[in-house]
Amino acid sequence: MTEVMLVAIDGPAGSGKSSVARQAADRLGFGILDTGAAYRTLAWSALHTNTDLENEQAVLELMDAWSYQTTLQGEQRIGVVLPHADGERTHDVTTEIREPAISGQVSRVSKHPQVRERLNEMFRDIVATSGLPGVVIEGRDITTVVAPNAPVRILMTASPEVRATRRAGELPGATHEQVLADITARDAKDALVVDFLHPAPGVTLVDTSDLDFEQSIQAVIDIVEAVRASEQDPR
Ligand code: C5P
Repeated sequence: MTEVMLVAIDGPAGSGKSSVARQAADRLGFGILDTGAAYRTLAWSALHTNTDLENEQAVLELMDAWSYQTTLQGEQRIGVVLPHADGERTHDVTTEIREPAISGQVSRVSKHPQVRERLNEMFRDIVATSGLPGVVIEGRDITTVVAPNAPVRILMTASPEVRATRRAGELPGATHEQVLADITARDAKDALVVDFLHPAPGVTLVDTSDLDFEQSIQAVIDIVEAVRASEQDPR
């Protein structure tokens, strides 16, 4: 089996990493694995099954029974198979996991170390069996924990103001102040678990505060192409 080229991208909410990573992956002919979607789906599943999000053991038991489904290319669809009294049921959670009600709860499941370990194994497995030439994986701890040896590792940031403006555009009805308060609170909780605000050694910082969407995509592609070129001509 030829090796899958990994492009690891971390960053805080609203840095642009999700949409930029998706477009860059498309243009490179790579897959995209959005790890935040898995954390969101886990939170959705816990809420849906009345599992106590604070109880790590209970969340791990839920993970014994669930099955996460994601597309790596084309239109993103996220599904989860959960046990029910009358057997298993598949839920398409693509839209629901983006709702503020879920965003506000995810940190409660993502703070559990064993839960993270279990999801990280799942991510590595999804990539290894993807059958694709490359996969862009985006999240918070991809460059440091999930794929610290990836040939391309990027930390994508933007100022809190810029991030709030971008997120507000995605959330109709929310004011700039509300969105800024929400992402600042979520970043603070998430940063207790992993540092995604400062690049680890060897990680390239891409600050998109002054870049538009197209320039941000190009920045990622340029880094990937540079690594590819140096791999073909190692000196
Ligand atoms: O990237 P996104 O905003 O969809 O992530 C949702 C949540 O999932 C984050 O707020 C964080 O709690 C969690 N997460 C994480 N580690 C990752 C990706 C996401 O803890 N690699």
